[in-house]
Amino acid sequence: MFSLDIDMFKTINTHYSNEKGTAVIQAVADAFKTAFAETSAVICRKTADQFLVFRKVGDGGSMQQIYTDNILPNLTEILGEKYRVHMSFGSAIITNCQEKSTAIIGYADTARQHGKSQNKTTFVTFDDAMKKFYKNKIEITFRMEQALKDREFYVVFQPKVNFDTLKVGGAEALVRWKPKLGQTIFPDAFIPVFEQNGFISALDLYVLEETCKFIVTNSAKMDIPRISVNLSALTVTSDNIVSKVSDILEKYSIDPSEIELELTESAIDNAAETFLLRVKQFKALGLLISIDDFGAGVSSLNRLAAIDADILKLDKAFFDLKDQGGKSSVVVENVVKMAKELNMLVVAEGVETYAQALWLKSINCDYAQGYYFAKPILQDEFKEVILSKNQYQISK
Ligand code: C2E
Ligand code: CA
Ligand code: CA
Repeated sequence: MFSLDIDMFKTINTHYSNEKGTAVIQAVADAFKTAFAETSAVICRKTADQFLVFRKVGDGGSMQQIYTDNILPNLTEILGEKYRVHMSFGSAIITNCQEKSTAIIGYADTARQHGKSQNKTTFVTFDDAMKKFYKNKIEITFRMEQALKDREFYVVFQPKVNFDTLKVGGAEALVRWKPKLGQTIFPDAFIPVFEQNGFISALDLYVLEETCKFIVTNSAKMDIPRISVNLSALTVTSDNIVSKVSDILEKYSIDPSEIELELTESAIDNAAETFLLRVKQFKALGLLISIDDFGAGVSSLNRLAAIDADILKLDKAFFDLKDQGGKSSVVVENVVKMAKELNMLVVAEGVETYAQALWLKSINCDYAQGYYFAKPILQDEFKEVILSKNQYQISK
Protein backbone atom coordinates (compact mmCIF):
# COMPACT_ATOMS: atom_id res chain seq x y z
CA MET A 1 0.00 0.00 0.00
CA PHE A 2 1.40 3.37 -1.01
CA SER A 3 0.24 6.68 0.35
CA LEU A 4 1.61 9.73 -1.42
CA ASP A 5 1.08 13.43 -1.78
CA ILE A 6 2.64 16.55 -3.19
CA ASP A 7 4.65 18.68 -0.76
CA MET A 8 3.35 22.19 -0.18
CA PHE A 9 0.54 21.61 -2.65
CA LYS A 10 -1.32 24.67 -1.41
CA THR A 11 1.44 26.94 -2.70
CA ILE A 12 0.75 25.67 -6.22
CA ASN A 13 -2.85 26.84 -5.87
CA THR A 14 -1.84 30.19 -4.41
CA HIS A 15 1.29 30.95 -6.46
CA TYR A 16 -0.07 29.73 -9.79
CA SER A 17 -3.81 29.09 -9.88
CA ASN A 18 -6.37 26.51 -8.90
CA GLU A 19 -6.41 25.36 -12.54
CA LYS A 20 -2.69 24.57 -12.39
CA GLY A 21 -3.25 22.77 -9.11
CA THR A 22 -5.94 20.65 -10.71
CA ALA A 23 -3.68 19.97 -13.69
CA VAL A 24 -0.96 18.74 -11.32
CA ILE A 25 -3.33 16.29 -9.65
CA GLN A 26 -4.49 15.05 -13.06
CA ALA A 27 -0.88 14.66 -14.19
CA VAL A 28 -0.10 12.44 -11.21
CA ALA A 29 -3.20 10.34 -11.92
CA ASP A 30 -2.29 10.03 -15.62
CA ALA A 31 1.29 9.04 -14.79
CA PHE A 32 0.01 6.22 -12.56
CA LYS A 33 -2.50 5.09 -15.16
CA THR A 34 0.32 4.71 -17.65
CA ALA A 35 2.77 3.10 -15.26
CA PHE A 36 0.32 0.57 -13.89
CA ALA A 37 -1.68 -0.04 -17.10
CA GLU A 38 -0.57 -3.65 -17.46
CA THR A 39 -0.93 -4.53 -13.78
CA SER A 40 -3.71 -5.30 -11.32
CA ALA A 41 -2.87 -2.22 -9.21
CA VAL A 42 -5.70 -0.16 -7.76
CA ILE A 43 -5.09 3.57 -7.80
CA CYS A 44 -7.29 6.07 -6.04
CA ARG A 45 -7.32 9.71 -5.10
CA LYS A 46 -8.03 9.97 -1.38
CA THR A 47 -8.48 13.72 -0.97
CA ALA A 48 -7.00 16.85 -2.54
CA ASP A 49 -3.45 15.92 -3.53
CA GLN A 50 -3.32 12.58 -1.70
CA PHE A 51 -3.28 9.27 -3.55
CA LEU A 52 -3.28 5.62 -2.57
CA VAL A 53 -1.78 2.89 -4.73
CA PHE A 54 -2.46 -0.72 -3.88
CA ARG A 55 -0.34 -3.16 -5.85
CA LYS A 56 1.57 -6.41 -5.78
CA VAL A 57 5.13 -5.78 -4.63
CA GLY A 58 7.19 -4.75 -7.67
CA ASP A 59 4.30 -4.53 -10.15
CA GLY A 60 4.86 -1.61 -12.51
CA GLY A 61 8.47 -1.08 -11.34
CA SER A 62 9.91 0.93 -8.49
CA MET A 63 8.09 4.05 -7.31
CA GLN A 64 11.34 6.01 -7.62
CA GLN A 65 11.48 5.11 -11.31
CA ILE A 66 7.81 5.92 -11.86
CA TYR A 67 8.32 9.29 -10.18
CA THR A 68 11.36 10.15 -12.34
CA ASP A 69 10.06 8.77 -15.64
CA ASN A 70 6.33 9.38 -15.54
CA ILE A 71 5.42 11.98 -12.93
CA LEU A 72 8.21 14.57 -12.82
CA PRO A 73 8.28 15.37 -16.57
CA ASN A 74 4.51 16.00 -16.54
CA LEU A 75 4.76 18.32 -13.55
CA THR A 76 7.68 20.23 -15.03
CA GLU A 77 5.67 20.73 -18.18
CA ILE A 78 2.81 22.25 -16.23
CA LEU A 79 4.76 24.40 -13.77
CA GLY A 80 8.02 25.10 -15.60
CA GLU A 81 11.59 24.15 -14.73
CA LYS A 82 11.97 26.60 -11.85
CA TYR A 83 9.29 25.24 -9.56
CA ARG A 84 10.68 22.18 -7.83
CA VAL A 85 7.88 19.79 -7.05
CA HIS A 86 8.67 17.38 -4.26
CA MET A 87 6.50 14.47 -3.27
CA SER A 88 6.29 12.19 -0.27
CA PHE A 89 5.80 8.46 -0.81
CA GLY A 90 5.06 6.22 2.14
CA SER A 91 4.54 2.49 1.82
CA ALA A 92 3.53 -0.43 3.98
CA ILE A 93 4.13 -4.02 2.96
CA ILE A 94 1.14 -6.15 3.84
CA THR A 95 2.20 -9.44 5.34
CA ASN A 96 -0.82 -10.00 7.54
CA CYS A 97 -4.05 -10.14 5.55
CA GLN A 98 -6.12 -10.02 8.74
CA GLU A 99 -5.24 -6.40 9.34
CA LYS A 100 -7.92 -3.83 8.62
CA SER A 101 -7.52 -1.73 5.51
CA THR A 102 -7.83 1.45 7.60
CA ALA A 103 -4.87 0.32 9.70
CA ILE A 104 -2.79 -0.48 6.61
CA ILE A 105 -3.58 2.90 5.09
CA GLY A 106 -2.66 4.44 8.46
CA TYR A 107 0.74 2.70 8.31
CA ALA A 108 1.41 4.00 4.81
CA ASP A 109 0.31 7.50 5.89
CA THR A 110 2.64 7.36 8.88
CA ALA A 111 5.55 6.40 6.63
CA ARG A 112 4.66 9.22 4.24
CA GLN A 113 4.62 11.79 7.04
CA HIS A 114 7.90 10.44 8.32
CA GLY A 115 9.69 11.60 5.19
CA LYS A 116 8.20 15.10 5.21
CA SER A 117 10.02 18.43 5.64
CA GLN A 118 13.28 17.34 4.10
CA ASN A 119 12.86 19.55 1.07
CA LYS A 120 13.21 16.61 -1.30
CA THR A 121 11.15 13.76 -2.63
CA THR A 122 11.13 10.92 -0.15
CA PHE A 123 10.30 7.21 -0.25
CA VAL A 124 9.79 5.71 3.19
CA THR A 125 8.74 2.18 4.06
CA PHE A 126 6.82 1.59 7.26
CA ASP A 127 8.88 -0.35 9.82
CA ASP A 128 8.59 -1.74 13.35
CA ALA A 129 9.72 1.48 15.03
CA MET A 130 7.06 3.43 13.15
CA LYS A 131 4.51 0.77 13.99
CA LYS A 132 5.22 1.24 17.67
CA PHE A 133 4.92 5.01 17.29
CA TYR A 134 1.68 4.69 15.33
CA LYS A 135 0.04 2.24 17.75
CA ASN A 136 1.02 4.46 20.67
CA LYS A 137 -0.51 7.46 18.94
CA ILE A 138 -3.77 5.65 18.19
CA GLU A 139 -4.03 4.27 21.69
CA ILE A 140 -3.34 7.62 23.32
CA THR A 141 -5.87 9.38 21.11
CA PHE A 142 -8.45 6.71 21.84
CA ARG A 143 -8.02 6.92 25.61
CA MET A 144 -7.23 10.58 26.35
CA GLU A 145 -10.70 12.04 26.92
CA GLN A 146 -11.86 9.32 29.27
CA ALA A 147 -8.51 9.50 31.05
CA LEU A 148 -9.04 13.20 31.74
CA LYS A 149 -12.55 12.50 33.09
CA ASP A 150 -11.21 9.66 35.22
CA ARG A 151 -8.53 11.98 36.62
CA GLU A 152 -5.70 9.79 35.40
CA PHE A 153 -3.60 12.90 34.87
CA TYR A 154 -1.90 14.35 37.90
CA VAL A 155 0.41 17.24 38.57
CA VAL A 156 3.85 17.14 40.20
CA PHE A 157 5.91 20.15 41.20
CA GLN A 158 9.58 20.72 40.63
CA PRO A 159 11.07 23.27 43.04
CA LYS A 160 13.04 26.22 41.71
CA VAL A 161 15.83 27.21 44.06
CA ASN A 162 16.66 30.86 44.66
CA PHE A 163 20.42 31.29 44.19
CA ASP A 164 20.59 34.04 46.85
CA THR A 165 18.79 32.28 49.68
CA LEU A 166 19.19 28.67 48.50
CA LYS A 167 15.55 28.15 49.47
CA VAL A 168 12.58 27.22 47.34
CA GLY A 169 11.61 30.30 45.36
CA GLY A 170 9.10 28.80 42.99
CA ALA A 171 8.01 25.61 41.27
CA GLU A 172 6.98 24.31 37.88
CA ALA A 173 3.83 22.22 37.47
CA LEU A 174 4.51 19.16 35.31
CA VAL A 175 1.91 16.66 34.23
CA ARG A 176 2.03 12.86 34.56
CA TRP A 177 -0.39 10.23 33.27
CA LYS A 178 -1.13 7.21 35.44
CA PRO A 179 -3.53 4.85 33.66
CA LYS A 180 -5.64 2.70 35.99
CA LEU A 181 -3.72 -0.31 34.78
CA GLY A 182 -0.14 0.36 33.93
CA GLN A 183 2.87 2.46 34.62
CA THR A 184 3.10 6.23 34.86
CA ILE A 185 3.62 7.80 31.45
CA PHE A 186 5.89 10.84 31.10
CA PRO A 187 4.89 13.88 29.05
CA ASP A 188 7.33 13.30 26.20
CA ALA A 189 5.27 10.24 25.25
CA PHE A 190 1.90 12.00 25.03
CA ILE A 191 2.32 15.80 24.77
CA PRO A 192 3.50 15.67 21.10
CA VAL A 193 0.44 13.54 20.24
CA PHE A 194 -1.87 15.98 22.06
CA GLU A 195 -0.23 18.86 20.22
CA GLN A 196 -1.09 17.14 16.95
CA ASN A 197 -4.68 16.30 17.80
CA GLY A 198 -5.46 19.50 19.70
CA PHE A 199 -6.21 17.87 23.07
CA ILE A 200 -3.29 19.74 24.64
CA SER A 201 -5.43 22.81 25.32
CA ALA A 202 -7.82 20.84 27.53
CA LEU A 203 -4.88 19.30 29.37
CA ASP A 204 -3.11 22.64 29.86
CA LEU A 205 -6.24 24.12 31.43
CA TYR A 206 -6.62 21.04 33.62
CA VAL A 207 -3.06 21.46 34.91
CA LEU A 208 -3.74 25.15 35.59
CA GLU A 209 -6.88 24.24 37.50
CA GLU A 210 -5.14 21.53 39.55
CA THR A 211 -2.41 24.05 40.39
CA CYS A 212 -4.99 26.62 41.51
CA LYS A 213 -6.68 23.97 43.68
CA PHE A 214 -3.35 23.18 45.28
CA ILE A 215 -2.73 26.83 46.08
CA VAL A 216 -6.21 27.41 47.51
CA THR A 217 -6.18 24.26 49.61
CA ASN A 218 -2.82 24.96 51.19
CA SER A 219 -2.18 28.69 51.26
CA ALA A 220 -3.64 29.16 54.75
CA LYS A 221 -1.16 26.65 56.14
CA MET A 222 2.01 27.69 54.33
CA ASP A 223 3.64 30.27 52.08
CA ILE A 224 3.33 28.81 48.63
CA PRO A 225 5.80 30.27 46.17
CA ARG A 226 4.78 31.26 42.67
CA ILE A 227 4.02 28.25 40.50
CA SER A 228 4.52 28.11 36.75
CA VAL A 229 2.30 26.24 34.32
CA ASN A 230 3.19 25.30 30.73
CA LEU A 231 0.97 26.46 27.91
CA SER A 232 1.54 24.97 24.46
CA ALA A 233 1.62 27.24 21.44
CA LEU A 234 -1.67 25.77 20.35
CA THR A 235 -3.25 26.68 23.68
CA VAL A 236 -1.82 30.19 23.69
CA THR A 237 -3.14 31.00 20.23
CA SER A 238 -6.52 29.29 20.64
CA ASP A 239 -9.75 31.30 20.79
CA ASN A 240 -11.11 32.47 24.14
CA ILE A 241 -8.06 31.22 26.00
CA VAL A 242 -7.68 34.44 27.97
CA SER A 243 -11.21 34.27 29.37
CA LYS A 244 -10.85 30.53 30.08
CA VAL A 245 -7.69 31.19 32.08
CA SER A 246 -9.25 34.14 33.87
CA ASP A 247 -12.37 32.08 34.72
CA ILE A 248 -10.22 29.45 36.42
CA LEU A 249 -8.33 32.07 38.43
CA GLU A 250 -11.61 33.63 39.54
CA LYS A 251 -13.21 30.30 40.39
CA TYR A 252 -10.45 29.66 42.96
CA SER A 253 -9.90 33.34 43.88
CA ILE A 254 -6.26 33.12 42.85
CA ASP A 255 -4.22 36.29 42.67
CA PRO A 256 -2.84 36.13 39.09
CA SER A 257 0.63 37.17 40.27
CA GLU A 258 0.89 33.77 42.00
CA ILE A 259 0.88 32.08 38.58
CA GLU A 260 3.49 32.18 35.85
CA LEU A 261 2.84 30.94 32.33
CA GLU A 262 5.73 29.20 30.58
CA LEU A 263 5.57 29.71 26.84
CA THR A 264 8.07 28.23 24.39
CA GLU A 265 9.75 30.48 21.92
CA SER A 266 9.29 27.93 19.12
CA ALA A 267 5.65 28.86 19.54
CA ILE A 268 6.40 32.29 18.31
CA ASP A 269 7.06 31.36 14.69
CA ASN A 270 3.49 30.35 14.02
CA ALA A 271 0.81 32.93 14.49
CA ALA A 272 3.33 35.43 15.78
CA GLU A 273 0.87 38.28 16.06
CA THR A 274 -1.73 36.31 17.96
CA PHE A 275 1.00 35.09 20.25
CA LEU A 276 2.19 38.59 21.11
CA LEU A 277 -1.39 39.73 21.61
CA ARG A 278 -2.01 36.88 24.05
CA VAL A 279 1.12 37.75 26.01
CA LYS A 280 -0.23 41.29 26.41
CA GLN A 281 -3.65 39.99 27.45
CA PHE A 282 -2.23 37.54 29.99
CA LYS A 283 -0.03 40.27 31.42
CA ALA A 284 -3.03 42.59 31.64
CA LEU A 285 -4.67 39.96 33.85
CA GLY A 286 -1.64 40.18 36.13
CA LEU A 287 -0.06 36.84 35.22
CA LEU A 288 3.71 36.54 34.83
CA ILE A 289 5.15 35.32 31.56
CA SER A 290 8.27 33.29 31.08
CA ILE A 291 10.03 32.29 27.89
CA ASP A 292 10.69 28.56 28.18
CA ASP A 293 13.53 26.55 26.62
CA PHE A 294 15.57 29.58 25.60
CA GLY A 295 18.66 28.44 23.75
CA ALA A 296 17.24 25.10 22.64
CA GLY A 297 17.04 24.98 18.87
CA VAL A 298 17.05 28.29 17.06
CA SER A 299 17.02 31.21 19.46
CA SER A 300 16.73 34.77 18.48
CA LEU A 301 17.84 37.63 20.63
CA ASN A 302 15.24 39.80 18.92
CA ARG A 303 12.58 37.82 20.64
CA LEU A 304 13.81 38.93 24.02
CA ALA A 305 13.01 42.46 23.00
CA ALA A 306 9.80 41.64 21.15
CA ILE A 307 8.11 39.68 23.91
CA ASP A 308 7.30 41.50 27.06
CA ALA A 309 8.20 38.58 29.31
CA ASP A 310 9.12 38.64 32.99
CA ILE A 311 11.28 35.55 33.19
CA LEU A 312 13.78 33.86 30.91
CA LYS A 313 14.31 30.12 31.29
CA LEU A 314 17.66 28.98 29.95
CA ASP A 315 17.51 25.51 28.46
CA LYS A 316 19.97 22.95 29.75
CA ALA A 317 21.52 22.69 26.28
CA PHE A 318 22.42 26.36 26.43
CA PHE A 319 24.67 26.36 29.48
CA ASP A 320 25.61 22.70 29.59
CA LEU A 321 28.97 23.71 28.28
CA LYS A 322 32.05 21.61 28.17
CA ASP A 323 34.22 24.72 27.92
CA GLN A 324 33.33 26.90 30.87
CA GLY A 325 35.66 29.84 30.61
CA GLY A 326 35.59 29.53 26.80
CA LYS A 327 33.56 31.36 24.17
CA SER A 328 30.17 29.76 24.80
CA SER A 329 30.19 30.68 28.44
CA VAL A 330 30.82 34.31 27.48
CA VAL A 331 27.66 34.12 25.37
CA VAL A 332 25.58 32.70 28.23
CA GLU A 333 27.00 35.20 30.70
CA ASN A 334 26.03 38.08 28.46
CA VAL A 335 22.57 36.73 27.73
CA VAL A 336 22.01 36.69 31.49
CA LYS A 337 23.27 40.29 31.69
CA MET A 338 21.04 41.32 28.84
CA ALA A 339 17.98 39.68 30.39
CA LYS A 340 18.66 41.57 33.60
CA GLU A 341 18.87 44.85 31.75
CA LEU A 342 15.50 43.99 30.25
CA ASN A 343 14.24 43.48 33.81
CA MET A 344 13.80 39.77 33.45
CA LEU A 345 14.54 37.14 36.05
CA VAL A 346 16.68 34.25 34.83
CA VAL A 347 16.00 30.59 35.63
CA ALA A 348 18.49 27.90 34.61
CA GLU A 349 16.80 24.59 33.83
CA GLY A 350 18.27 21.11 34.07
CA VAL A 351 21.01 22.01 36.56
CA GLU A 352 22.57 18.65 37.31
CA THR A 353 26.04 19.22 38.72
CA TYR A 354 27.91 21.10 41.41
CA ALA A 355 30.04 22.86 38.77
CA GLN A 356 26.98 24.09 36.90
CA ALA A 357 25.30 25.36 40.06
CA LEU A 358 28.43 27.18 41.18
CA TRP A 359 29.02 28.77 37.80
CA LEU A 360 25.38 29.81 37.25
CA LYS A 361 25.30 31.46 40.66
CA SER A 362 28.54 33.28 39.84
CA ILE A 363 27.08 34.78 36.66
CA ASN A 364 24.03 36.07 38.56
CA CYS A 365 21.40 33.61 37.47
CA ASP A 366 18.41 34.06 39.81
CA TYR A 367 16.98 30.55 40.08
CA ALA A 368 18.02 26.97 39.41
CA GLN A 369 15.67 24.17 38.51
CA GLY A 370 17.24 20.76 38.17
CA TYR A 371 18.03 17.36 39.59
CA TYR A 372 21.07 18.76 41.42
CA PHE A 373 18.69 20.44 43.86
CA ALA A 374 15.34 18.70 43.42
CA LYS A 375 13.43 16.43 41.06
CA PRO A 376 9.75 16.89 40.24
CA ILE A 377 7.91 15.65 43.36
CA LEU A 378 4.39 14.70 44.44
CA GLN A 379 2.24 17.43 45.94
CA ASP A 380 2.51 16.05 49.48
CA GLU A 381 6.29 16.00 49.27
CA PHE A 382 6.28 19.52 47.90
CA LYS A 383 4.25 20.66 50.91
CA GLU A 384 6.83 19.10 53.21
CA VAL A 385 9.63 20.88 51.39
CA ILE A 386 7.86 24.21 51.88
CA LEU A 387 6.93 23.57 55.50
CA SER A 388 10.45 22.49 56.41
CA LYS A 389 11.78 25.70 54.82
CA ASN A 390 14.33 23.44 53.22
CA GLN A 391 17.77 24.98 52.83
CA TYR A 392 19.64 23.67 49.80
CA GLN A 393 23.39 23.62 49.41
CA ILE A 394 25.97 23.98 46.71
CA SER A 395 28.70 21.67 47.82
CA LYS A 396 30.82 18.88 46.40
P1 C2E B 1 9.97 21.54 30.18
O1 C2E B 1 8.87 22.54 30.28
O2 C2E B 1 11.30 22.02 29.67
O3 C2E B 1 10.11 20.94 31.65
C1 C2E B 1 11.31 20.59 32.22
C2 C2E B 1 11.62 19.13 32.02
O4 C2E B 1 12.97 18.90 32.39
C3 C2E B 1 10.78 18.21 32.91
O5 C2E B 1 10.57 16.98 32.22
C4 C2E B 1 11.71 17.96 34.08
O6 C2E B 1 11.44 16.77 34.77
C5 C2E B 1 13.04 17.87 33.37
N1 C2E B 1 14.17 18.16 34.25
C6 C2E B 1 14.18 18.86 35.39
N2 C2E B 1 15.38 18.93 35.94
C7 C2E B 1 16.20 18.21 35.12
C8 C2E B 1 17.61 17.89 35.16
O7 C2E B 1 18.36 18.27 36.05
N3 C2E B 1 18.09 17.15 34.15
C9 C2E B 1 17.29 16.72 33.15
N4 C2E B 1 17.86 15.97 32.19
N5 C2E B 1 15.97 16.99 33.08
C10 C2E B 1 15.43 17.73 34.06
P2 C2E B 1 9.12 16.36 32.09
O8 C2E B 1 8.36 16.54 33.34
O9 C2E B 1 9.32 14.99 31.56
O10 C2E B 1 8.45 17.27 31.00
C11 C2E B 1 8.90 17.25 29.68
C12 C2E B 1 8.24 18.33 28.86
O11 C2E B 1 6.84 18.07 28.72
C13 C2E B 1 8.29 19.72 29.53
O12 C2E B 1 9.52 20.29 29.30
C14 C2E B 1 7.16 20.41 28.82
O13 C2E B 1 7.57 20.89 27.56
C15 C2E B 1 6.16 19.30 28.61
N6 C2E B 1 5.10 19.39 29.63
C16 C2E B 1 5.05 18.86 30.88
N7 C2E B 1 3.86 19.18 31.48
C17 C2E B 1 3.16 19.94 30.59
C18 C2E B 1 1.87 20.57 30.61
O14 C2E B 1 1.11 20.55 31.57
N8 C2E B 1 1.51 21.26 29.47
C19 C2E B 1 2.33 21.35 28.38
N9 C2E B 1 1.90 22.04 27.34
N10 C2E B 1 3.53 20.76 28.34
C20 C2E B 1 3.96 20.07 29.43
CA1 CA C 1 8.46 24.41 31.08
CA1 CA D 1 11.95 24.09 29.61
